[in-house]
Amino acid sequence: MGIRFDSVTVAYDGNVDNLALESLDLTVEPGEVMALLGPSGSGKTTALRAVAGFVRPVSGRVFLGGRDVTDLPPYRRGIGMVVQSYALFPHMRVDENVAFGLKAQKTPKSEIRQRVAEALEMTGMAAYARRHPRELSGGQQQRVAIARALAIRPDVLLLDEPLSALDAQLRSGMLAELARLHRELPDLSMLYVTHDQVEALTLADRIAVMDKARLRACGTPKELYRAPTDEFTASFVGGANLVPVIVGAQGVAFAGAELEVDTAGAAAGARATLCVRPHLVGLGEGPNQLVGALREIQWRGATHRLYVEVDGHSVMADVRELKDPPRHGESVTLHFAPENAVLLPAGVSHG
Ligand code: ADP
Ligand code: MG
Repeated sequence: MGIRFDSVTVAYDGNVDNLALESLDLTVEPGEVMALLGPSGSGKTTALRAVAGFVRPVSGRVFLGGRDVTDLPPYRRGIGMVVQSYALFPHMRVDENVAFGLKAQKTPKSEIRQRVAEALEMTGMAAYARRHPRELSGGQQQRVAIARALAIRPDVLLLDEPLSALDAQLRSGMLAELARLHRELPDLSMLYVTHDQVEALTLADRIAVMDKARLRACGTPKELYRAPTDEFTASFVGGANLVPVIVGAQGVAFAGAELEVDTAGAAAGARATLCVRPHLVGLGEGPNQLVGALREIQWRGATHRLYVEVDGHSVMADVRELKDPPRHGESVTLHFAPENAVLLPAGVSHG
């Protein structure tokens, strides 16, 4: 079942001068995993709460499977929800926790037993049915929370930073588990809130990028990474060099040099922002050269991250297999291929 936000605006405590969510238009297709990605305070949880029915929009409508649910109470929306802090009932066993929503729906006992078993099986927790939450690790507790959400067989699963309380290794294991669930339940739509770009890039079919209560961009992970349309998205999804340039006839002018890039759609003489991913910047001579002084070099295992000051702007290059690293202050030549640059509308990098 799909989810649709139609111009949804949320203000807390009637504070319309400080909106928590501003005119959100977004459609999650049936069976799709949509990540809501953005920094803390950007309105992600608020958007989720609007779908669940825990917050009422001041304007706009929320649709589930084409049906307007804006005026329905949460328990009548058929939604499963998983939050960061597990939120299991401590005095109940695992199986009782998972059965909770089904009992509330007055599901027959035999069916409850079967669905609880199925949900625990799906999350790899069948062997823990009779334990209490305190006898489980954080990762196991979160699996139970997911099992509890799945037991009611929701059409829509909402997840709010479900992995952020777990350590890095558990997180990547759980990410793989969620990807498997997505394959096993192809009809289940998921709205997955995270501030972690890696989670969004690995799990989501599409990513909606949030910034200051607004939707900045929406697209597949590859679209947003390879062809971002704004500076915020470019830097938040994957990290990017963003330098101010002036559009010319064949390319752009930067630091007194003419760089060859695709300027399609940009007017000559206009200000714009050139976006190049650090791993697509090479060390040494080549097309589109930039010369500057090395300000910082970091060893990152597989790569060195170089920070080079070019005409007052810091340019990052991630270089593999650097045998003889340059030293601080040394003059360094960088280059990038024309097809690896994206031209964006002028924004914050112009100050
Ligand atoms: P995110 O989940 O992206 O971190 P939230 O949706 O929680 O962001 O918050 C968006 C904005 O709404 C923030 O400015 C936050 O301070 C505010 N906010 C969130 N919840 C409440 C609340 N219950 N009452 C008042 N303001 C809130
Ligand atoms: Mg939040």
